[in-house]
Amino acid sequence: MLFVTLRDDPSDAEIPSHKLLLRAGYIRRIGSGVYAYLPFMWRVLQKVSQIVREEMNATGAQECLLPQLQPAELWKESGRWDTYTKAEGIMFSLIDRREQQLGLGPTHEEVITTVARDMIRSYRQLPLHLYQIQTKFRDEIRPRFGLMRGREFIMKDGYSFHADEDSLKKTYQDMYQAYSNMLRRSGLAFRAVEADSGAIGGSGSTEFMVLADAGEDEVLYTEDGKYAANVEKAVSLPADAELSSFTSYEKRETPGTETIEKLCQVLNCSPTQVVKNVLYQTVYDSGLTVLVLVNIRGDQEVNEVKLQNELTKLAPQFSAKTVLSLSVPTTEAIGGWAAKSLPLGYIAPDIDDEYIAGSKDVSGKFVRLVDQTAVELKNFVTGANEAGFHVVGANWGEQFKLPEIVVDIRKARPGDHSVHDPSQTLQTARGIEVGHIFQLGTKYSQAMGANYTNEQGEEKPLVMGCYGVGVSRLAQSAVEQSYDKDGIIWPVAIAPYHAIISVPNINDGQQVEIAEKLYTELNKAGVETLLDDRNERAGVKFKDADLIGIPYRIVTGRAIANGKVEVVKRATRESQEIAIEEVVSTLQQWIRAAIAG
Ligand code: ATP
Ligand code: MG
Repeated sequence: MLFVTLRDDPSDAEIPSHKLLLRAGYIRRIGSGVYAYLPFMWRVLQKVSQIVREEMNATGAQECLLPQLQPAELWKESGRWDTYTKAEGIMFSLIDRREQQLGLGPTHEEVITTVARDMIRSYRQLPLHLYQIQTKFRDEIRPRFGLMRGREFIMKDGYSFHADEDSLKKTYQDMYQAYSNMLRRSGLAFRAVEADSGAIGGSGSTEFMVLADAGEDEVLYTEDGKYAANVEKAVSLPADAELSSFTSYEKRETPGTETIEKLCQVLNCSPTQVVKNVLYQTVYDSGLTVLVLVNIRGDQEVNEVKLQNELTKLAPQFSAKTVLSLSVPTTEAIGGWAAKSLPLGYIAPDIDDEYIAGSKDVSGKFVRLVDQTAVELKNFVTGANEAGFHVVGANWGEQFKLPEIVVDIRKARPGDHSVHDPSQTLQTARGIEVGHIFQLGTKYSQAMGANYTNEQGEEKPLVMGCYGVGVSRLAQSAVEQSYDKDGIIWPVAIAPYHAIISVPNINDGQQVEIAEKLYTELNKAGVETLLDDRNERAGVKFKDADLIGIPYRIVTGRAIANGKVEVVKRATRESQEIAIEEVVSTLQQWIRAAIAG
């Protein structure tokens, strides 16, 4: 077999699981975000896939396989071609010899909705749930961490179709359970969290987070277990604002106070008395750039995911469907649209639209949004639209007009009080998103005309749900959660092999004979076993067995003189001598217990 391990950490790997999978010969990098799954890895991926498949089938979902090459027309029908090829730029696209545009599937809503449109006619066919396990392609901006964020990776994606929301909710609940089962069976510690549903809104989405410090996502949760959410979505109660000490409206000279911290030092006030004015720049898919001014309480931060969702709601007024990008404009970007020099750091809520040199591509007016936290303030401090100056004792409805659009776009933070029970404070954890279930509603069926006829004979759009598991990401996250200084410690359920027989000395005929006999018997009995009969020192073999993380190591060493072998558990390093004729039954029992647990 191909069995190549590396002594040293590969220089291009940052996190433990990535280093270990490379060192232990599970994966090999072929290009940026593109990996070869070598035989060990492929066995792990097949085990994960099988668990996923069993849990999906148990809910009544059916497996299929959809094309990876997808005609651009389908994506134009759903309105996602531009967003996926330009904005997020996540879809690989190409032109074939007939000059037809195609994309390599990053996800399959368009394809499945086309199938449903053609094949589902009546409510009698509903509900229906199809899934597949397949390679996906995404031209990620930052592919990294090995299989965690690849440009080619394996996903289970499922799509369900319903006559109504109630039916969708039932399947969504089934999926919640199925996903929990998959992760539990794969031996992972995880948390299901409320997630952002983007601009689609929908009635909800849940992400399944494997808890690990290397996770790219932040999760906020309460100790009582009643609340957990992705920070992108999380809500909380803001701390109370301090009563303002300014009683009359005045302009004050405040040089060098571009930050809230400096400002509060100079004015000797609390950030909760300040209305902070944050400038954003957004580009809609109509090509229009729009400048956005957000007023928010000085001690709070803007949650850009929530802000983007609000801006997406405004898209129709700019003849657009969606937001292509959102950012705090750089000095260079400001230069591109400013009609005159902006008082950055000293902007007031009423900054004049004259600062924008409007054009065909740039909207001439600021979109003004005020966060709930700023609405309630009295006698507040804010910018004076003049470098080096602020105003104090200001009030909405007096010096400043309250923006019409009031939003909740503040970022919830660890330590904030929880909405469901203010005695609980939000705690923080890092998570790896391995699964995401989503109530889509009728977004795709409406856009693509996928209807069915209901009991009353009326045409209705299909109600949809979608459910994804990152199979390859899940496999690596198991390593991220379970390793030690010597290597990987696979959960038994997804280990590439259950056991490895290490023959200390292959020149000892008796050792080899017993090893080969055990090897045959174990495999015959369903204990997936490797035989390390390489001509290497025993120490090298033990090190490699530890590195690749096989749960049980069987050593045909000195103990064979007493009719026994040494068996070492990888996770605990617990070692015991077991009579040769009891090895098969003992391991069967251990494996059964480990997989059930
Ligand atoms: P992320 O926020 O991490 O980019 P996503 O929200 O775009 O992921 P989904 O579209 O919800 O991902 O895809 C379903 C699942 O596929 C994710 O929960 C994740 O486990 C997995 N996944 C997504 N992108 C990648 C990737 N580049 N490499 C490996 N797995 C991925
Ligand atoms: Mg997701």
